[in-house]
Amino acid sequence: MKRKAFLVDTTRCTACRSCQVACKQWNKLEADSTVNRGSYENPPDLTPMLYNQIHFIEQDRGEDLRWLFINRRCLHCADAGCVKVCPSAGALYHTREGLVAYNRDKCIECHYCVNGCPFDVPRYDARRKVTKCHGCSDRVQNGLLPACVKACPTKTLQFGDRDQLIAEARAAGKKLYGEKDLGGLGVLYVLDDEPGTYRLPKNPAIPASIFFWKDVVKPLGILGFWGALGAAALHYVTVGPKKIDAPDEQQHKGGE
Ligand code: SF4
Ligand code: SF4
Ligand code: SF4
Repeated sequence: MKRKAFLVDTTRCTACRSCQVACKQWNKLEADSTVNRGSYENPPDLTPMLYNQIHFIEQDRGEDLRWLFINRRCLHCADAGCVKVCPSAGALYHTREGLVAYNRDKCIECHYCVNGCPFDVPRYDARRKVTKCHGCSDRVQNGLLPACVKACPTKTLQFGDRDQLIAEARAAGKKLYGEKDLGGLGVLYVLDDEPGTYRLPKNPAIPASIFFWKDVVKPLGILGFWGALGAAALHYVTVGPKKIDAPDEQQHKGGE
């Protein structure tokens, strides 16, 4: 099957947040309790109950105010740090369409995926299970558009054949973020400024430290534990159990 992807043309976004609401409705996510921070951005970040968020970039330029908006969510990476570091088979996985979905029943609450994601996406709910955008894999498998895409009134959000979306964007003279990064992202962005302005890394990469922890430090720790246990067992077999001194013997030793 040909890989599917989202295209987010940030230059078209009006920050109406229909996408946030549609996602909550489809996924039956409760409302987040928020406070007024002096910004229209609400909530201010992804949460366990918010799989996509409109991030407001508010730039005060003296007499001029510049507003940029971006739909933040899982970017459905081909080379996905979350999938790579997850030690529980099937907890995070690629669907046939190339989306990164998950099975919460298989999540073992290790939080590796949080640290393995270059985009700060995975969150943990009250049950300490992973949550994030799953690309509406349930809808897509049934030939439907993702709920957020269907609800977007300005065609900021598009979904379809990845190669075709790229070809159309190129034909329209648009430069894309994510075309080649991490094996090609499943969410391609048209930006109106540098990636850093939108809190996107210029050259996203999976943090090497997570592999050092998962593949070196943790196995060594486990090896150390079993080594200590093995040494104790060997001592028991060859020397025998530790003898406890009789009370009068202890008194005698104490009086020496
Ligand atoms: S953006 Fe993060 S959570 Fe989404 S697929 Fe990539 S690594 Fe995984
Ligand atoms: S694709 Fe589905 S799960 Fe992901 S943000 Fe859109 S509505 Fe939410
Ligand atoms: S629904 Fe479309 S236009 Fe509205 S905030 Fe979401 S991405 Fe922007």
